[in-house]
Amino acid sequence: MSSSTGALSFSELVRKISALSVMSPEEAESRFPRSPKFARHVAQLFLEDRLFDILPRLEIQLQIVRHFSPPVRPALDPYTSTQIGIFSKRFNDYEIGEFLGYPECCMRSFAENIRYGIDEEHIRELKGSGMKAFVTTAGFIPCSIFCKEAQSRALVSFIKPDEIENLRAMEKETALQLPHFHPEYREHYFEVRSL
Ligand SMILES: [Zn+2]
Repeated sequence: MSSSTGALSFSELVRKISALSVMSPEEAESRFPRSPKFARHVAQLFLEDRLFDILPRLEIQLQIVRHFSPPVRPALDPYTSTQIGIFSKRFNDYEIGEFLGYPECCMRSFAENIRYGIDEEHIRELKGSGMKAFVTTAGFIPCSIFCKEAQSRALVSFIKPDEIENLRAMEKETALQLPHFHPEYREHYFEVRSL
């Protein structure tokens, strides 16, 4: 149960953030050549002890993810995302996307075709798939719900309608254990669409 693809993908992201907590900003910059400014920024914040509450929160979220074992990874705790600067306009989308493990094809589709969320094209694909539902990591927009790269990174997955309940239960549990002050992200860790 503890090694669902969503749990593995999430633990990989937690590992990256934890690694930054013990790196100098210079080292962070060179170790993350595709998100240098962002990595440097996070390492600097750790160095100044401004992220002391992040790692315990991530550990709690990781335990929850392992328990519910979702097929895709949930969005990062919004408090953590805010503290480390994921929503900040200081970093370009590609740097952030790279750090979060988003595939190039999906980032390009997001940036060039200005797709702000799951749209009618994704729904059209779902209708042609023979499947009834899919889930993505909240905040991630796949170039296609068939994107192999996004599927293998546990960012999008087809699901059976009866799996939706487990995802909702996980969102509730996460919101309960990790309260935060972002009303727009409340209990919102996955994007689910069903026919
Ligand atoms: Zn893609």
